[in-house]
Amino acid sequence: MVNSQPQPQNAIVQSSLIGGENNSSWTIADSARLYNIEGWGDPYFGINSQGNVTVSTGIEGNTLDLAEVVESLKARNLDLPLLIRFPDILADRMARLQSCMAQAMDRYNYQGSYRGVFPIKCNQNRHLIEALVKHGRAYSFGLEAGSKPELMIALASLDSGIDKQALLICNGYKDREYIETALLATKLGPKPILVIEQPQELDLILTISQELDIKPVLGVRAKLDSKGIGRWGNSTGDRAKFGLTIADIVRVVRRLEATDRLDCLQLLHFHIGSQISAIGAIKNAIREASEIYVQLIKLGANMQYLDVGGGLAVDYDGSKTNFPPSKNYNMQNYANDITAQIKDACDRSNVAVPTLISESGRAVASHQSILVFDVLGTSNVSYPDVLPPSEDAPLAIRNFWQTYQAIDSTNFQESYHDAIAFKQEALSLFNFGYLSLTQRAETEQLYWACCHKIAAIINECDRIPDDLENFAEIMASTYYANLSVFQSIPDAWAIDQLFPIMPIHRLNEQPTVKGTLADITCDSDGKIDRFINAKQAKHLLELHSWNSSQPYYLGMFLVGAYQEIMGNLHNLFGDTNVVHIEIDNNGYRVESVVRGDTIKEVLSYVQYNGEDLLETMRCRTEKALQNKTITLKETQKLLQNYADSLNNSTYLKVDRSSRSLKQ
Ligand SMILES: *Cc1c(COP(=O)(O)O)cnc(C)c1O
Repeated sequence: MVNSQPQPQNAIVQSSLIGGENNSSWTIADSARLYNIEGWGDPYFGINSQGNVTVSTGIEGNTLDLAEVVESLKARNLDLPLLIRFPDILADRMARLQSCMAQAMDRYNYQGSYRGVFPIKCNQNRHLIEALVKHGRAYSFGLEAGSKPELMIALASLDSGIDKQALLICNGYKDREYIETALLATKLGPKPILVIEQPQELDLILTISQELDIKPVLGVRAKLDSKGIGRWGNSTGDRAKFGLTIADIVRVVRRLEATDRLDCLQLLHFHIGSQISAIGAIKNAIREASEIYVQLIKLGANMQYLDVGGGLAVDYDGSKTNFPPSKNYNMQNYANDITAQIKDACDRSNVAVPTLISESGRAVASHQSILVFDVLGTSNVSYPDVLPPSEDAPLAIRNFWQTYQAIDSTNFQESYHDAIAFKQEALSLFNFGYLSLTQRAETEQLYWACCHKIAAIINECDRIPDDLENFAEIMASTYYANLSVFQSIPDAWAIDQLFPIMPIHRLNEQPTVKGTLADITCDSDGKIDRFINAKQAKHLLELHSWNSSQPYYLGMFLVGAYQEIMGNLHNLFGDTNVVHIEIDNNGYRVESVVRGDTIKEVLSYVQYNGEDLLETMRCRTEKALQNKTITLKETQKLLQNYADSLNNSTYLKVDRSSRSLKQ
């Protein structure tokens, strides 16, 4: 049925944009389907009967209500945006990885063991590394360092007094200090494995180990011929930035042999890139690496470990496909394929299987962090009250009005093109001085009134005409989000990565608006207009109607890897508050709180001193007082605000008593 009657109310027109009037039969199952929460969130995230997102540890019964948690954190003066970490989820990710590897080894009769190591670059925050080491002890989970600062974190974090088995893999470019530190640390118990990434590192390592009289455990990082895929696909191949070519590796073997040190070479490492969406790429790489491993044994190296690097992907859109934000395999498939290939290569050459190492970062750390932020305001395309133009109005306006009046289901497509033409004509007339500012405003109102009428008709259509396909985008709302894309999800801006985003409450209510998110930086790139979807990313997100008297919380999920650490201070928005929450069957506990940056702290990063700034402002006001351009009361208020702001968060406080950012 086509409804061509004018729609009198803004709310109804909005809701008609995405499927009829506010539908009271909407259920949480509809929301679950819409946001595909099972696809990307299972088993950690779900929706409860109150319509709120739930967080679970993966263990039956340990579930909490995320919206309630946010309310109670706010009551503790922990304002949004908030990054909430769940170490229990981190623990579950490690347990799963361990269990998948164990199952695979069982299945293929792999007579060796698996040792996970966490690549610190993925998320260096102390609380996270501490939680990881603590929960990882059950499986002797180790750490991978890719730089000197990361080596320092790793050395202090792994305590061989508690866990002798955990490995410390030393990747990255190395200088004398790096190598000396790693070698000397072997005296404390742990055995760092120095992975040679560049041919010239070997001589330096040999010299230093002789000086210190400490025998190193060495690895080589191979540039495989097998390519990764996607964005990080060229982390490998002959021209890759890292690693040794096969000729380099053979040279390393010869050199070690000549110095009677071939027994030091124990590990082969490769890394074909992050977020490998297709299992085929992983299989190819393992096949090649397994063969290199076996050949190194044949050359006389004392091989013990095969380190398959990172790359185990995360299904950000939940589609289970080989699209870049997804993956066409699960963790068990990954474990099976790796184990089977290595076992096969070793059996063929009759050598013992290696201790298998993987450096999964993304797959371990992503799920445990959620960024929760609130909406400060919205800008909707308004549905103006348009009145008939006066008799003496310019012809263009009178014609425009007639077009508006006549829109119906038979002519809406043509009417839309007419409306665009009228709007353009009005602009030309204005530019030549034939329309007043008020008249130009009238034509703009008419244009939007036409669009609203057309939107209502399109919504009832079975098939949307091609030229009106992006009509929803024209009519989209903008929701202003209290966050900085550059600080909190840099990859969404820098490399168009997708993360699942959805409201964390009101999920038993139909979302009646489609919109994009704009952050509070002054940068036009500070927006989110790509959202997960089954095939191609979609440009608009389904959102609930917003009003200033009630908070509206959105969650961005799977942000625990890379996002936290690569964020930058664009517009001087600093770190958000961070909390760690432990879940058990009695509820939850706020384990640790890391306050976000204050304005004073952020200013100090760019060499401003808060005290000096305040003093400068005090002098300014003193002068203004003398000149009588400011009152004493105004001075007090200004200085008080300035001083308070220095100690406050860089993000906005939501003032529900007045409309703060409503456009
Ligand atoms: C980045 C990196 C990793 C982690 O990769 P993920 O895809 O996050 O698992 C592992 N090893 C090395 C050498 C890396 O550079």
